[in-house]
Amino acid sequence: MIYLSCPDITDKEKRAVLEVLDSGMLASGPKVREFEERFAEYTDTSHAVCVSNGTTALHVSLLASGIKRDDKVLTTPFSFIATSNSILFCNAQPLFADINPITFNLDPNKVEDILKKEQNIKAIILVHLYGFPCEMDAFSYLAEKYNVKIIEDSAQAVGAEYNNRKAGSFGIAGTFSFYATKNMMTGEGGMITSSDESFVQKVRSLINHGRSGRFLHSELGYNFRMTDIQAALGIVQLSRLEEFITKRQQNADFYDKNLADLDWIKLPVTYLGHKHVYHQYTVRVKSEIRDAFVKYMNDKGVNVAPIYPISITQQPFYKAMDSFDCPQAVKISSQVVCLPVHTKLSQDDLEKIVKIIKGFKK
Ligand SMILES: *Cc1c(COP(=O)(O)O)cnc(C)c1O
Repeated sequence: MIYLSCPDITDKEKRAVLEVLDSGMLASGPKVREFEERFAEYTDTSHAVCVSNGTTALHVSLLASGIKRDDKVLTTPFSFIATSNSILFCNAQPLFADINPITFNLDPNKVEDILKKEQNIKAIILVHLYGFPCEMDAFSYLAEKYNVKIIEDSAQAVGAEYNNRKAGSFGIAGTFSFYATKNMMTGEGGMITSSDESFVQKVRSLINHGRSGRFLHSELGYNFRMTDIQAALGIVQLSRLEEFITKRQQNADFYDKNLADLDWIKLPVTYLGHKHVYHQYTVRVKSEIRDAFVKYMNDKGVNVAPIYPISITQQPFYKAMDSFDCPQAVKISSQVVCLPVHTKLSQDDLEKIVKIIKGFKK
């Protein structure tokens, strides 16, 4: 079986974890601080804060941005459900703008249509889906014009760049996930990046029970901390990230070249000034054949998946909330198929995958 994702662990990661276990300091300590410093440096932001996962990173970023009950937060219907759930955790109201079907990301024009119409939108959560950065010039302009904060859900986009600036360095916050299937991983884990000093102070308080001193708690907070075990793993993964990205890009190039002549598959695009880190290599086929194609590939031993097969606006409990009109997201969710693009694929694997795809009888 060729899997859709595969963690890339070497002896270096194993030694780093064992060192922490031997140190007797397992909770949030020196390794967490070192991981934060290195991550801030990598993303060219002033601060990074380790948290327990990508979902808590989003939740706390909204809270620290001042989002409260009944505020409106705009986001994409085509993402992992954690993106919009984080808005509900704050008792705020999620609004959805439609996506651009070519980039899979939020369409700035659709976002502006809603910003014009709706009062009281306080923030936008952008998602750099599959590792492809959003149109940040357009969104930075909108943020300024309509006075809304930007949070970049960069869970799939660690290392991605827009005009030579890293994903997670544009908004008031960038949020990251180090879940086991992500481009760099710590099993479970997350990070918040920001260059706003008071925002970061608020985040540090909220993830640690609102603590402001020894045995002193000034506000209601949570336990969203990371352990030194995870941080030690993360430090090594971060040191290998450029190697991971290069391998993913080479795999994507192979597909680009070897699938180009198939007229029934649309390949993903990338644009000048966008550094795509290929968390997923996502193709589109006609809705009528999508599920048959997924089944065929899995039966042949190649794990592919329709990510995401249901837009968030079509999920039962969101559907019950409101009637959100995002036809592109609904259509695209019936067409997408993610092919394996991870770092452990061999040349043989890639050739085998292409050969099997070419053998699909529509
Ligand atoms: C993985 C992911 C999350 C959630 O991260 P967890 O670490 O699993 O909580 C949020 N948004 C997107 C786009 C993701 O891919």
